[in-house]
Amino acid sequence: MTIHYKITPFNPAAHLFSIELSISTPNPAGQVLSLPVWIPGSYLIREFAKHIISIEAESAGQSVRLVKIDKSSWQVEPVSAPLLIRYRVYAFDLSVRGAYLDQQRAFFNGTSVFLAILGQEQQACEVAIYTAPQTNWKLATTLSAQQVDAQGFGVYQAENYDELIDHPVEMSDFSTLEFVACGVPHKMVISGRHQADLPRLVRDLTRICEYQIQFFATPAPFKEYLFLTLAVGDGYGGLEHRSSTALICNRNDLPLPHETDVKAGYRQFLGLCSHEYFHSWNVKRIKPEAYAPYDLQQENYSRLLWAFEGITSYYDDLTLVRTGLISQKEYLELLSQTITSVERSSGRQVQNLEDASFDAWIKYYRQDENSPNALVSYYTKGALFALCLDLTIRRATEGKKSLDDVMRALWLEYGQIFATQQRGVAEDEWEALAQRITGLDLTALFDLGLRSTAPLPLRELLLDLGIEWQQRAAVSAADKGGWLDVINSPKCSLGAKMSADAAGVKLTHVLTDGPAQRAGLSAGDVLVAWNGLRLSIGQFEQFLAAATPEQSVTLHAFRRDELMVFELQLVAPLWDSVGLKVATDSSTVCLQARQRVFGH
Ligand code: ZN
Repeated sequence: MTIHYKITPFNPAAHLFSIELSISTPNPAGQVLSLPVWIPGSYLIREFAKHIISIEAESAGQSVRLVKIDKSSWQVEPVSAPLLIRYRVYAFDLSVRGAYLDQQRAFFNGTSVFLAILGQEQQACEVAIYTAPQTNWKLATTLSAQQVDAQGFGVYQAENYDELIDHPVEMSDFSTLEFVACGVPHKMVISGRHQADLPRLVRDLTRICEYQIQFFATPAPFKEYLFLTLAVGDGYGGLEHRSSTALICNRNDLPLPHETDVKAGYRQFLGLCSHEYFHSWNVKRIKPEAYAPYDLQQENYSRLLWAFEGITSYYDDLTLVRTGLISQKEYLELLSQTITSVERSSGRQVQNLEDASFDAWIKYYRQDENSPNALVSYYTKGALFALCLDLTIRRATEGKKSLDDVMRALWLEYGQIFATQQRGVAEDEWEALAQRITGLDLTALFDLGLRSTAPLPLRELLLDLGIEWQQRAAVSAADKGGWLDVINSPKCSLGAKMSADAAGVKLTHVLTDGPAQRAGLSAGDVLVAWNGLRLSIGQFEQFLAAATPEQSVTLHAFRRDELMVFELQLVAPLWDSVGLKVATDSSTVCLQARQRVFGH
């Protein structure tokens, strides 16, 4: 009854995979086949079937008719013998969510290339991957190897369709680094041109992986783990799987052999590895009920995404400071940037965390020029809420309990037994469990943080750790937040985000109730003159630096091809940037509180 797939990088120049699917006992009433419309972990309908460019069916040596019945599904005419389906998939998506094939590299997620057989999703599968266009290619995946050669080509297997699509596959002449964390073999492969210091990556990743395995308690929930990394000129992203992750990074973010410090790009890369690895527990095994099982044909709604993405975002950087990969000062800089990014989105006053979670499919994943005014990120605000929850629990229990205890309880009650029980966290169970484990009534904090748009009480909670809070205006367009000893902010603001344009300055986002919006300017408008003088982005900053609040300015701008004139009243910039630092006079009690959170 095993289902057999054979996938071949058929035409790298045309980016085409060729797939053969053998079904020994198709539904005699007419087998239905379909491709998922989304990939778990990335909450957007992507309709992968649009890249199936040809498909045909055969049974007992005869061609069989296939009818498309919806955007992602086909029905084969009834047959009484085994069925063979042949199809081709166009693969030119460089992201971690799809499939890619060219002369240098092949990568795929099963969601892009393996048709599901309706009614046989629980059957075991075999995948044959024999050939590569280049002799120097190797293959990396955490699918179980059944019979493979030294380079990794051969036959792999999965217990069912859900497992089949949760092990991405990379084929190229990649670099490989291997290490053992808590007795479990780990591997990172890096495709794309790079000069990374591999021994350093081994050292640093070992610390992250060992810390997180021990955080949830050994043994790790996987037999092996694989980081599939693609290094490019400009790119960033990651997607979690049950025993692997696909990552894309800027090659300059990887550490070079002569470097010893943790540069900002490398800090971000380690944070990404830490984030996706933490998901092995939080979302791959501790899951919302809505994903247990996934419905791959439509949106799967949950108001708990903040707990799976926000809390994971809290622990990704926290792991770096707890393992000593970054200092407390560096951690506070990252935290300042997270706070600043939330402070700067006026959408935090419009959307709460539960709504942000629920509407991820149409809002967070489909951002447009109005997004800063309309949404709040369940990643960044979710991470800040996790910090609030952690500090509140620590304060109320005098350091005896923390968010760590809640996470470990979720692991014991849901994650560790997920493979056998398949039970997810119901929408109301997360908060109930947190209250039961800590013995605290946290209703008011949950109502405030998840169901209202009121500010989080972070500033006051950070005082417990002896951390000072600096609230200030941004000093430049490059200012992401962080403590400044000298603050030289521009005196005026336009209330818009902008980018350079060949004709002047283009407004990319016009912020709610700012001077630009009040003057009638819109996203997409290209400013060409300031008080009758031609504008470039450099001149714009000079004009703004010389202006004073309440001053009126005449702006000429093109909307599409129509020239318009706007009278704009400048205002002082918002104090929407935050810096944090440990107070020089912080007490021993604060020091001990910091040690409990940061681990040293
Ligand atoms: Zn995530």
